[in-house]
Amino acid sequence: MASGQSEITVAVTTAKPVVDESVPLVLVSGASGYIATHTIQQLLISGNYRVRGTVRSLKSEEKVKPLRELIPDAKYPLELCEADLQDKGSWIPAVKGCKYVLHIASPLPPGVPKNPEDVIRPAVDGTLNVLSACAESGSVLRVVLTSSIAAVSCGLVGHPGRSDNTYSEEDWSPPEACAPYERSKTLAERAAWDFVKDLPEEKKFELVVMNPAAVFGPVITKNAGTTVGFIKAALSGEVPAVVNLNMVVIDVRDVAQAHIVAMEKPECNGKRYILVSDSNFSFRKMCEVVNKEFVPQGYKAAGKIKLPKFVAWFISLFNSEMSLIYPSIGKQLTFINNRMINELGIQPQDTEKMIIDTCYSLVEFGLVPKTPQYHGAKPKVPQGDQNLS
Ligand code: NAP
Repeated sequence: MASGQSEITVAVTTAKPVVDESVPLVLVSGASGYIATHTIQQLLISGNYRVRGTVRSLKSEEKVKPLRELIPDAKYPLELCEADLQDKGSWIPAVKGCKYVLHIASPLPPGVPKNPEDVIRPAVDGTLNVLSACAESGSVLRVVLTSSIAAVSCGLVGHPGRSDNTYSEEDWSPPEACAPYERSKTLAERAAWDFVKDLPEEKKFELVVMNPAAVFGPVITKNAGTTVGFIKAALSGEVPAVVNLNMVVIDVRDVAQAHIVAMEKPECNGKRYILVSDSNFSFRKMCEVVNKEFVPQGYKAAGKIKLPKFVAWFISLFNSEMSLIYPSIGKQLTFINNRMINELGIQPQDTEKMIIDTCYSLVEFGLVPKTPQYHGAKPKVPQGDQNLS
């Protein structure tokens, strides 16, 4: 060593972090998605589980980095692996050693896909690929599958004999009457129930199904979900006109919590759960809520033009999205959420708060630009302090 230089000892540790195998391992498919990130966040915060998430490519920085940064000091750091719904073999290592699987991944296109099979095949084959791997794993005890109310009421709205438009977990969408996404969810859920029913005793595991309504609520990464796109458009001044369309909604935070409770509670086995907080919301009300909070902060008013039904009918003649929603215009749908409240114990978030929280998160994540007048969410004044000023 040259004189004057001090000796530096570099300790290279090759020891891997000690994994506590007694802590249940949960697989979350489609980890970078909107609902999945919330679910992973809640699982990691609980500190009760080791969590493994699947992404299509670990090379996708845009999807992987926000996940790594979700809960950096989690008791059990998030593990990520690659899996694609249409690659059966990729699910075998993904489910290895897992006690629970939350199968959330499925294509959710923003519009009607040109080729229905682009949505249906990954949804149905993907579900069967995940479930087959679970059956072979020897470790999976329960799968929670994310279906949708699309598998409950689609094609029944306005149907003779269903004039009350009230739906429960007993209802099933007839696949032949559904648009591609709705069909994909119905067929995938049906395939899952048939799959577990036909399993030999030694390969059996439990199945619980979540049937959420349209999901809104804050984004926690820049990968905003498809449904949040409508609020983003409203806040960005891209929704000048709206039709009178009933909207059935649920907060993403409630959906994530519901998945975890459904995974934990023994009595949930074998059941579907409609996840709905408010059946009586509408696109018009959503615009009103956004406008009330954000027009004073310099954002353009959304949905100022109330599109009459006959105009919607005309548009539906050449626009596939409008032709899909046209039968539901002006109709009030009701989804019974007793099971969610009584069995899962979910007390749903307030709908207006859900919309406002969504908007602020979109601005804070840079998905909608800040206006000069933007002041951000004002902290709520505690009840007792309101008269103090
Ligand atoms: P999202 O943000 O679009 O997430 C979907 C996830 O699925 C993404 O991580 C996506 O991965 C993954 N995925 C899609 N195709 C895949 C494939 N071939 N292989 C592997 N992964 C694939 O949607 P979300 O709103 O969170 O929805 C999650 C689930 O909830 C879906 O099953 C959806 O049908 C259901 N659901 C959603 C709503 C709603 O309003 N959002 C309502 C009811 C039910 P990439 O990021 O790589 O594309």
